[in-house]
Amino acid sequence: MSKAPSLTFFGAAGEVTGSCTLLETDRARVLVDFGLFQGSHEQERRSADPPPVDFRSLDAVVCTHAHIDHCGRLGMLPRLGFDRAIWCSEPTAELLPMVLRSSANLQKVRLQEHREGTGPDAVVVDPPPDPAVTSAQRRTEDPPVLYGGGDADRAGRMAIGVPYGAWRDLADGVRMRLHDAGHVIGSASVELEVKHGASRTRILFSGDVGPRGDSYLRERPDAPEADVVVMECTTGARPADAPVADVPVELREIVADCRARDRTAVLPTFSLGRAQVIVHHLARLAREGVMGEMPVYLDSPMAIRAGELCVRHPSLLSDEARAMVSRGHSPFDFDSLHFLWSRRHSLRIAGRQGAGIVLAGSGFCDAGPVLHHLEHHVGHDHGHVVFTGYVLPGSLAEALAEGRARRVRINGQELDVRARVTRLHGLSGHADPSQMESWLLGSGKVPSAVLLNHGDERAREMMSARLASAGCARVERPAPGATWSA
Ligand SMILES: [Zn+2]
Repeated sequence: MSKAPSLTFFGAAGEVTGSCTLLETDRARVLVDFGLFQGSHEQERRSADPPPVDFRSLDAVVCTHAHIDHCGRLGMLPRLGFDRAIWCSEPTAELLPMVLRSSANLQKVRLQEHREGTGPDAVVVDPPPDPAVTSAQRRTEDPPVLYGGGDADRAGRMAIGVPYGAWRDLADGVRMRLHDAGHVIGSASVELEVKHGASRTRILFSGDVGPRGDSYLRERPDAPEADVVVMECTTGARPADAPVADVPVELREIVADCRARDRTAVLPTFSLGRAQVIVHHLARLAREGVMGEMPVYLDSPMAIRAGELCVRHPSLLSDEARAMVSRGHSPFDFDSLHFLWSRRHSLRIAGRQGAGIVLAGSGFCDAGPVLHHLEHHVGHDHGHVVFTGYVLPGSLAEALAEGRARRVRINGQELDVRARVTRLHGLSGHADPSQMESWLLGSGKVPSAVLLNHGDERAREMMSARLASAGCARVERPAPGATWSA
């Protein structure tokens, strides 16, 4: 009698980073995602400890998408002895070499900066920060270097892109197909069909699922029928009446304000996903003539490349964006948009005054070029800082976004906060709880088990209660390291 497949959750179990789940049968072993733990130095250190898996014996690795919390540890695979294929969508196969190389470079730079004492400097001075938070944020030991550039390149070359919907054999008795998850370009839910004895079990990994609505991406499908679903619930605790930004309206107001008052708006932006959403909206405003000559700077080579990648895959874009591409235009470009490819160029732009918009990373405002843009604009009433996403608890970004920060220090300069600060709520790359429920049950078949991951405990509890009342008889919240079997 052949054993039923089992799943072991090595990350993103009761948290939102470090995605990594192992599928095992008598004959096959497949790892789905191998992401970084993020959010604190402690989390970074967790990334350095690989899960207790014999990587040499893995048949295959599958990657749902190119966000670092899902793919950031793939660069460790060569050193761990894995030398087979990393299966993913075609756009993700193009992104992974860039993302892994950039992650390797960042790890190297962080170590060097820590040793030289030249790391990023972005703290609140007034009100004085909680000493406990400050001490938790102080780095006491070298940041981990998980892999070098050569490892990143080797892992990048292992990536094999597969069209959505096409079956591929991954291992003895395991085949896979990908479904568009509508979260970022190339994001996928992974369906594994597993044979054991005379039975077949369909196991679906949601990956990160995007929201429905106005997007530069085509409308994603609901989940296909499956027996077992491993489902993300990042937004599980979001109340039904949570504020949702009307992004086109708010961006229009920001543009008008910048032009009328000669303000520079700085938007801390994540490269893959958020940057394309905002540039896509600004490009629409440009086509309407709302932008005038006002310059917009995209200060992120990764974001620039992600926009180009979208244009190379028009079939994955919305009708509007696809029609533009077919007419020879990019929905992620317009006359007054300038791409900043180098640090030198970025530093030169940081000092400019007058009406303009700067999109720069890191989205968390904890490092990267966004810091020198903030340094030039946060202390002036002609500056405007616009937060478009999640802010880390205890961070400079949180204190600014909540209007608490009166004085800050950025790159050694102490500045009174005089800039206007705005927060666009609800601009999420994730489906909300009711959309997740519709995604899960859209095929009409209720899975025999739903395993919730990629959400904190509160999000998992609330999603669990929601799905139970929607008729899911078995909803589980696997603990970190726990093994589940049917
Ligand atoms: Zn993601």
